[in-house]
Amino acid sequence: RRRRASAAARSTAPGSQPLLPVVGGDEEVPLVTGGTARYVNLDVAASAPALAWVAEHVERVLPLYASVHRGAGYASQVSTAVLEGARGTVGGFLGAREDDVVVWTRNTTDALAVLAGCVPDGGSVLALDLEHHANLLPWRTQAHRGVTARVVEAAPDVEGTVAVLERALAAEPTSLLAVTGASNVTGEELPLGRLAALAHAAGARLVVDAAQLAPHRPVDVAGDDVDWVAVSGHKLYAPFGAGALVGRRDWLDAGTPHLAGGGAVEEVGSDDVRWAAAPARHEGGTPNVLGVAALAAACEALGALGEGALEAHEAALRERLVDGLAQVPGVRVVRTLDGAASAIGVVTFTVEGLAPGLVAAVLSAEHGVGVRDGRFCAHPLLARLGLPAGAVRASVGVGSRAADVDRLLDGLRRLVAEGP
Ligand code: PLP
Repeated sequence: RRRRASAAARSTAPGSQPLLPVVGGDEEVPLVTGGTARYVNLDVAASAPALAWVAEHVERVLPLYASVHRGAGYASQVSTAVLEGARGTVGGFLGAREDDVVVWTRNTTDALAVLAGCVPDGGSVLALDLEHHANLLPWRTQAHRGVTARVVEAAPDVEGTVAVLERALAAEPTSLLAVTGASNVTGEELPLGRLAALAHAAGARLVVDAAQLAPHRPVDVAGDDVDWVAVSGHKLYAPFGAGALVGRRDWLDAGTPHLAGGGAVEEVGSDDVRWAAAPARHEGGTPNVLGVAALAAACEALGALGEGALEAHEAALRERLVDGLAQVPGVRVVRTLDGAASAIGVVTFTVEGLAPGLVAAVLSAEHGVGVRDGRFCAHPLLARLGLPAGAVRASVGVGSRAADVDRLLDGLRRLVAEGP
């Protein structure tokens, strides 16, 4: 009886089963060795599979597909209600303040580009070198307005990195500090509340690239006193095409309209325009109502998880992965922020003597395991870490389970023992 009880406990242990059902995930895929295997998706940090709940919600909204806002018909009214109602859902999920604005965008890259156009003329943006390109490049596009972009090298640990930012903020006037919530390379998190306090003490604002953080951890914009946060639907278990920039109204009302066109204006003359306030100001053109509905449904489902359930699920899988990788000869896990209070389910590693592309290709072709290789849109970080040829990244999410991690580890052990 004791054995049965411990087996039951194991099967409900965090990480043993998917935390939420996702669409797909049990497909058989062909292997080069002949036969098939259940596809194991360990690349959810790139794009996460849609939740079953999201798919059901989109199916309910789809029959009332119609253009929003000025349509008088019933379907238009419903679509408008879906689009506008979703602002509260997504804002609530991210812990936004009552008076924060939710701007619909295509993804995180687009959201940060919206904010880049809203940095006051002559302003200055400060970022760490560990950022995804989406949080490095938009700031460089505003040089024509006198906006400068500064990048400082992060220290090898969290305390050192906080000190680096404190010194950089003291050294030069800064309008905006742009940081990631969690690294898309190592999964390590930054202490957002502390960084917000530092930025504000220096007269700067804080924007958090939460593309990776939001799918894995609760984001608390108001609680941490973050000014803006950017997210992508396709990383939050919704399909591609919708994202959001959420935060303070003042810069968004005054900034350059993101997409000039219908819907973004109050009045157009033959040679002058009165732009609308945010969010409409930045949402020119017909919006992606289905994408927004999906994003909001995903936020609902994730927000309804029991407190700590997501963290426990991912921590168990991450630990299994990191511990397992440590047992494989020649495998090294990449780290960049020692002392991070927590890390999401994103783990990057190298295999001595084997090119990352080869490792990823063998895992896919021979074991049916999907991982990612390359430089993860973080070229400056990979260069600093001495990884110009890139590395391999495995990532887990709510649809992942321990057996997925085990399959990766088995494949890797075999590859290292037997060679490609
Ligand atoms: N920021 C981080 C940390 C990311 O991991 C990614 C995507 O990989 C992005 C930004 C960009 O997201 P998107 O391609 O959805 O704009």
